[in-house]
Amino acid sequence: MRVPVVAANWKMNLGTGHEAVEFVRSIRRGLQAVEGVEIVLCPPYTALSAVAEVLGGSHIALGAQDMHWEEKGAHTGDISPAMLAGWCRHVIVGHSERRATRSEAESDVAINRKAKAALAHDLVPIVCVGENVEQNDAGQTETVVGGQVSAAFAGMDAAQVSRCVVAYEPIWAIGTGKAASPAEANRTINLAVRGPLAQAFDEPTAQRVRVLYGGSVNAANIGSFVEMPDIDGALVGGASLTPDFVKLVEAVAKARGK
Ligand code: PEP
Repeated sequence: MRVPVVAANWKMNLGTGHEAVEFVRSIRRGLQAVEGVEIVLCPPYTALSAVAEVLGGSHIALGAQDMHWEEKGAHTGDISPAMLAGWCRHVIVGHSERRATRSEAESDVAINRKAKAALAHDLVPIVCVGENVEQNDAGQTETVVGGQVSAAFAGMDAAQVSRCVVAYEPIWAIGTGKAASPAEANRTINLAVRGPLAQAFDEPTAQRVRVLYGGSVNAANIGSFVEMPDIDGALVGGASLTPDFVKLVEAVAKARGK
């Protein structure tokens, strides 16, 4: 049985320590009352330390939104895995908003390096994959997403892959209010995420990896996603910035029978 995950991607919001702390204080009690769901908050770097302090002693995990794969060096503006290790438990890698605007820095090769570097520092990479609207319209979803999955996990062993989380996020559904249909998302995850994992590793490994859906998820629609057999939670953008985030996490626990 895979434990569901809900990861909040705050993006470039709530970035001052003060506003982040105020928000986390307003949702912390509600989130802590939910059992059976792994909850991850990913604030901007500037709020990581303040949020770490408010979360201290709770089961809510802290995550970062990106990182460089190298340990240290001449990379102005970047954060290394060693800087996150010890206080962050997760790190998002390969988010489509970064893939789209930084094509070289966020190439498949770079994302593979980041995922491996995260694991080497005991961080759980949340590896984002997803097709854009043109690829979807052209019927290329399986090929595109399958290719991203194969590239992201290349050169890992089964134990490493099992520790990773994948977020399938169709780009046309992110921040648009137009979520994919749960059945379609489940089908893509089954064929284009678990399929290539089973091929590269084995079926038990493909079944062990937690795969999230992301794209216009909210408290009202999340239940229909996590009821799907291959969907283990969500990566949440906009809806993670309001107190309703607690309802969203509660809905995941409810749909999973907790
Ligand atoms: C995201 O950015 O990962 C995301 C899923 O955003 P939203 O929930 O706002 O669509």
